[in-house]
Amino acid sequence: MKKIVIASHNDGKVEEIRGLLKKYKFKIFSLKKFSHIEPKENGKTFIENSVIKAVNALKITGLPSISDDSGLCIPALNNDPGIYSARWAGKGKNFDLASKKIEKKLFEKYRNKQKLFKAFFCCALTIALPDGAIKSFEGKVFGTLQFPPKGKNGFGYDPIFIPKGYKKTFGEMKYSFKERISHRQKAFKKLHNFIAKL
Ligand code: IMP
Repeated sequence: MKKIVIASHNDGKVEEIRGLLKKYKFKIFSLKKFSHIEPKENGKTFIENSVIKAVNALKITGLPSISDDSGLCIPALNNDPGIYSARWAGKGKNFDLASKKIEKKLFEKYRNKQKLFKAFFCCALTIALPDGAIKSFEGKVFGTLQFPPKGKNGFGYDPIFIPKGYKKTFGEMKYSFKERISHRQKAFKKLHNFIAKL
């Protein structure tokens, strides 16, 4: 059975990627099994950061590695938190706090002028192979913000994001449903041809 490493220390992401990889019959490892040190994400885009993570995991394990760099972008805040989505939650990875920070910034900037804020999730997936091949793909899902947060499913900013065409937040949706429409699965669809040939 072919082996693949998920280059992430975020359990929520690892579980989602594990689910998306299920049909390919890989033996799947999480990078946590090999190292607890996370690489410095000093790229300027989701793709640059996902390449850093995939190459780091390949170097540590010698195995094909798949990484995800993703985040929530809010046009009214110049697409923040964007690539800094994890950092807005601080060392304690407190996304209640990060969501409150977003709400506060929007309130300070717009007061009562606007109530419905657009947002999108972006996900860049990169696969790095021992032969040096590196491929990246991006997926996005558009929607609006919900305050106060709703729902206990998912992870990160899921409870404040309502995808376009739906009434529930990702946090209120079952994972099996989010999986069908998410930014991560859209990026995954693009990766399919490459992965299927491994
Ligand atoms: P990083 O890609 O590990 O730097 O972290 C991205 C951060 O964006 C995560 O910690 C989440 O807070 C947020 N994020 C990315 N994808 C999702 C998602 O599908 N749902 C909720 N939050 C997400």
